[in-house]
Amino acid sequence: MRYHVPLSNFVTMANQTDLRTSSSMKHAASRTEHRDLYSGLIRLHILYHACKQPIFGLEMIEELGRHGYKLSAGTMYPLLHGLESKGLLRCKVVGVGRSRRHVYRATSAGQQALADAKDKVQELFSELFEDVMAQARRTSGRRSRQ
Ligand SMILES: [Zn+2]
Repeated sequence: MRYHVPLSNFVTMANQTDLRTSSSMKHAASRTEHRDLYSGLIRLHILYHACKQPIFGLEMIEELGRHGYKLSAGTMYPLLHGLESKGLLRCKVVGVGRSRRHVYRATSAGQQALADAKDKVQELFSELFEDVMAQARRTSGRRSRQ
């Protein structure tokens, strides 16, 4: 492990240094010209939720919308099918009232892929926010010396 600061600590530090991370992320994510940059993040997000509980397309469109990603059904379903054909998700058709719904769960390969991706995300995260974390360390160091 090359990083020593857990994510939860970072969030606290970011708040202390008054960085409005979530709102700036949201704005950047809604710019569709960067869709290709975010496609991996979107897949990871889907995989994360499918590891926690069974998911379905419309629900994930709403969930990703909450995080500032606007996806149409025409984008979401191919994403789900793609993850399924890679063996990361398994699809089951369930009856909901009179209609049928495709519900997806992560396979064990999907769970392993998410675990691997977490390491990569944390690695990238610590590099992207190196300066913020250094700043937060300086701030807390100053505070403890008082
Ligand atoms: Zn989410």
